[in-house]
Amino acid sequence: MVASIIDGKAIAAALRKSIAAEVAAMPVKPGLAVILVGDDPASHVYVNNKVKATEEVGMKSVERRLPETATAEQVAKVIDELNADTSVHGILLQLPLPKHINSDPLIQRIAPEKDVDGLTFINIGKLVAGDAAGMVPCTPQGSLRLIKSVRQDLSGLDAVVIGRSLLFGKPMAQLLLAENCTVTSAHSRTKNLAEVCRRADILVAAVGKTELVKADWVKPGAIVIDVGINRQDNGKLKGDVDYASVSQVASAITPVPGGVGPMTIACLLANTLKAAGARA
Ligand code: NAP
Repeated sequence: MVASIIDGKAIAAALRKSIAAEVAAMPVKPGLAVILVGDDPASHVYVNNKVKATEEVGMKSVERRLPETATAEQVAKVIDELNADTSVHGILLQLPLPKHINSDPLIQRIAPEKDVDGLTFINIGKLVAGDAAGMVPCTPQGSLRLIKSVRQDLSGLDAVVIGRSLLFGKPMAQLLLAENCTVTSAHSRTKNLAEVCRRADILVAAVGKTELVKADWVKPGAIVIDVGINRQDNGKLKGDVDYASVSQVASAITPVPGGVGPMTIACLLANTLKAAGARA
């Protein structure tokens, strides 16, 4: 079997197009604010991409940049201002923050209804409780959209998520559970990981280890979602899945780059639209 490629770039472009159409019909433009603290080069690239994508769908983009030396109190003040600003519907605190600032209380300070990253305890709770009004974190949400682009009804399927981070693995497992999958959360202490993975009709890898998942870990016909982003010495990106061999076994697979990555920003815009009272 040769897997079909799940084209995240095209699926994200279609989602952004439908968001732009929704925004064009809205009397008030949704506003997305990004807070960037410090000089991390990768964060600057991400923020620039987010600003560009926000403007491209016709939303209002607000940027608040603070120096590397900023204090937690200064970041808190900016969050408070944006929480109170009625023209801002979504707030994103770009992580990581400089080492001297603890990000946890600042993330929790964001008004839950503006928490487009879905990281406040209220939104995590809503996800676990199955309350659709909550904000679902962008990368897991995007991964689910990719899975559903190849199969709508996931009911009863065995799903294995490798990785249990709060940012990705845990919310991904909850989303699959809500789709009536039988979900296994695997992690660094999981015994016989290859054997566990071989049970999966849906295998999601979010580990951060280049090509950890090999072809003999994959059930023939499985849907494989590769969330990993691992930069190689030559500058190229590779995923957590050995794409060349696994694509001979799976029925559908996401490439890296061009799979999950493009969905993250598109889902950030979808969450901002939702925060402003519409849906895509
Ligand atoms: P993380 O917080 O470092 O979590 C990694 C997870 O992998 C942990 O749960 C860890 O287990 C588990 N793990 C580590 N080594 C393992 C092994 N040998 N076998 C099985 N499990 C193992 O990372 P993350 O934030 O979830 O991100 C994971 C990957 O996804 C990274 O490559 C990241 O760059 C990428 N990512 C991509 C996007 C995107 O937009 N495409 C977004 C977010 C993340 P323990 O809990 O036991 O330590």
